[in-house]
Formats: sequence, C-alpha cells, structure tokens
Amino acid sequence: MRVVKSPNYNERSDAGIKYLIMHYTGMASGAEALIRLCDAKSEVAAHYLIEENGEVYSLVDESHRAWHSGVSKWEDDEDINDRSIGIELVNPGHPYPGYESDYVSFPGAQMESLISLSQEIIGRHKIKPWHVLGHSDVAWRRKIDPGELFDWKMLSENGVGCWPKRENDNIEVSSEHFLTGLKFYGYSTEGCHENQTEIISAFQRHFRQSNFSGVLDSETMGILMDLLKQKIS
Ligand SMILES: [Zn+2]
Repeated sequence: MRVVKSPNYNERSDAGIKYLIMHYTGMASGAEALIRLCDAKSEVAAHYLIEENGEVYSLVDESHRAWHSGVSKWEDDEDINDRSIGIELVNPGHPYPGYESDYVSFPGAQMESLISLSQEIIGRHKIKPWHVLGHSDVAWRRKIDPGELFDWKMLSENGVGCWPKRENDNIEVSSEHFLTGLKFYGYSTEGCHENQTEIISAFQRHFRQSNFSGVLDSETMGILMDLLKQKIS
C-alpha cells in the first residue's frame, strides 16, 4: 500500500465507525483523481483510493474524518463522514453535462484489492454487512456512484456487504409498504411520498442492477423483503 497524504479531513467525534462507503472517482484517470483528492482546494478525500490495476493508496488515516460523502444520511445518522471509512475506486463514471465518459466495469484486479481491504476494515471496526453501502445509498438525491456495474454480489460472496437471495416472488406491489421497508433498511425517505422514482432507482442500482428504471415491481419488493430479513435476523 502506498501512502499519499491528503489534507482533506478533520477529527472524528467519538460516536464510532459504523459504515464502509464505496465511491467511484468519476474522472478520466487515477492520476487526476489522486491529485484532486490530495488538493486542499477540492475539500474532498477518502481514506483509500484503488487504481484499476489494484494498487491501493492510503490518503487519510482511518482515525480521521475524511470528506467523501457530503450531505448524506442512513438510519438516524446524518453525518456519514463522521462514522465511516470511505473508499474511492478509479473509474471514469457516468457522463454528465460538460463531462464525457464511458462508465465501465470495475476490473478484476481492482475488485480483488477492494475485497481484501474491505475485509480488513470490516474486521477492524466490526462493520455490519448492511452498513457496507454506496454513496448513492446514503446520498441518493445527489449521487449515483459506484453505479450499476459495481459488483456488490461478488463483494457479498466474499463477506463484504449484503446481497439478496431471490426467493421471494409474487409479492404484492405496494409503494407504501416499499417506502416503509426502505426506511427500516436505512434509506432516508423524507419527502418521497410524492415521487419515488429516484429512491427506487437508487435501491435497484445497488440490489437489482439489471433494471434500475425506478419502477416498482414484485421482484424489487421481494429483494427488499429479503434484505430486511437479513438485517433483522
Ligand atoms: Zn462518491
């Protein structure tokens, strides 16, 4: 592991580390991302950066509060940076106005490094599987990273995070029940009763990646039910 210090952190409260948050860099190259994450003017960092070839950089010591998640919420926690370790994966990310890119799959070497690093972090801080999340889970109103090509299933098979079993079919579609379930699982659902497309899409981007249209269906309901079962049991 290479150590490159970023100034973009401050002290944590004593609430304790509870989450592991995954991001993509959304920049053309790892070198550019490294410069940005270590530039005091950018005011963003993560604890770790992982290159496409699997090289891991330590940017901020885990004891510090790195600035990676911004305005975010999960369960009752409104300061995710205070309670999390953040990992940035080099990936061009999705295009947006003024930025052209090709969002691509995360290479095997990068995922292997991510799995080993995450296993260590989870062990060190006793992070629960349902507290291993994407930026898009804790900040779905603003963020879509690490996105639908991020292999959460592979991670879960290696003891990192949750992945649903697909046994629950023929579950009645009820957007009210779905929202209640999402809130129980941890999502911030305030103000979602009028328009749920975005939050459903964020959920699908993580847990039902083949179709993240934001339309609620029986399979999506079943996936949430299974995840809740895992969290409660
Ligand atoms: Zn992010």
